[in-house]
Amino acid sequence: MNYRSTRDPNAQLYTDAQAIIQGLAPDGGLFVPAAFPQPQFDLTRLTTSSYQQLAQTVLQWFFPHLPTTATVPAAYGAQWDHPRIAPLTPVHAGSYYLELFHGPTLAFKDVALQVLPHLLQAAKHQTKDTKETIILTATSGDTGTAALRGFRNVAGTRVIVFYPQHGISPIQEAQMRSQQGDNLHVVAVKGNFDQAQTTVKEIFNDPTLAAVLASHQQHFSSANSMNIGRLIPQITYYFSAYGQLLRQGVIQAGDQVNFAVPTGNFGDILAGYYAAKLGLPVGRLICASNKNNVLTDFFTTGTYDKRREFFVTNSPSMDILVSSNLERLLFDVSGGDAELVQQLMHELQDQGHYSLPTELLTKLKQLFAAEYATPDEIQTEINRVFKEANYLIDPHTAVGSIAAHRYRTLSDDPRPCVVVATASPYKFPETVLQSLDNTVPSQSTGLDAIEQLAQLDPRPLTAGVEELFTNQPQPVLTTTPAAMPRMVLDILKKTDK
Ligand SMILES: *Cc1c(COP(=O)(O)O)cnc(C)c1O
Repeated sequence: MNYRSTRDPNAQLYTDAQAIIQGLAPDGGLFVPAAFPQPQFDLTRLTTSSYQQLAQTVLQWFFPHLPTTATVPAAYGAQWDHPRIAPLTPVHAGSYYLELFHGPTLAFKDVALQVLPHLLQAAKHQTKDTKETIILTATSGDTGTAALRGFRNVAGTRVIVFYPQHGISPIQEAQMRSQQGDNLHVVAVKGNFDQAQTTVKEIFNDPTLAAVLASHQQHFSSANSMNIGRLIPQITYYFSAYGQLLRQGVIQAGDQVNFAVPTGNFGDILAGYYAAKLGLPVGRLICASNKNNVLTDFFTTGTYDKRREFFVTNSPSMDILVSSNLERLLFDVSGGDAELVQQLMHELQDQGHYSLPTELLTKLKQLFAAEYATPDEIQTEINRVFKEANYLIDPHTAVGSIAAHRYRTLSDDPRPCVVVATASPYKFPETVLQSLDNTVPSQSTGLDAIEQLAQLDPRPLTAGVEELFTNQPQPVLTTTPAAMPRMVLDILKKTDK
């Protein structure tokens, strides 16, 4: 299977291995399949397929020439605390919740970041690439922990994660600080997430640093959802959800299903779009945003405008104004018009906004709906779902839940709706407790809030949550944004053999 850049009118081809190793195309575009797979599959078989079988099938569709037989058993094994990996709850307070938080770091990033290291290794093996891969990430919480967990002790890789010293939740910090692996480095930055993110991008593009790395047989790579190897594994859970609805007797084979997806960088929902393109009967994809509602405006008006205030909300993993993966959707809906994509992306960069041609917006509206929720509405929704169904949801899932409800009320659409549950309520226990009118322990370490929340929860604590209590926090390095490049060099020098 070959890949190409969303911004290259000449459609230069790359192998799947090259696309995964490089992460981003040289012209700044994103890798997409040069010809989208058109597989034949039997929907009724979905009821009996295990998650692992589905994952294997999806990987084979997109990476048929990569040696990936060992990937799936390693990625979806005992580190998951539910045998179905992505269980779908029966209907709760009007919605089905697809729980994607049963992995080791309690958020849906694990679904892909448990796979990506194995894909990267397979790709390097195939291309006889013996360089050490330095995964560099700035994180506002979930990606960093999931990347550390996914890449720990993976041969030929090293991970350096920068997080804002006062910008992540106590649980996220505890998770990040307790990761154990010889190849993992966690650095707290005295600054905010944007400063860390901007400096990471500068480090990526610094020719001097690149030369130093090359002389040590090393190269930088990224673990964020711009990498096609992180995106594709997420397609699996849409198929798995459909199979579970069939098995529960909610639908018949061929019936359409809607999905409400809490969205930030547009990776999760794009995987749903790809599932529909592969032939899964998807009705509407409901793009659910928080108060940073740039996508809601985009799907309503066709104009993407990032020139607006940035809000720090109680669903921090969705606090984002530039949704990178939207570029892949634009490419696809325009029939692969790389010139148009290039033009729109340059407008976004230079002027901060762009507008989609009307006929493309009309096309998008046939498949997508969009809603958003404010922090207060999120708290009310967590409260409502718990009162009505005795079921705890996290603030990100609550955004999806609100969007599903609002869409159903406005549209009268009778098709069943799956809310994609992206994080465990135990990852954000303070917000959940507050929403349930409970006082939050002052100076919460996260763990005390978890214990308090557990007393309200009818379900037993999962192994992933239990583990938080046995973790031993390690001392972390600290730096300033300006000193980050120096820190990278120091880390690499110390570990050089
Ligand atoms: C990353 C994340 C999201 C947003 O997913 P995208 O693929 O970036 O749209 C939503 N919820 C949680 C909990 C996340 O960690």
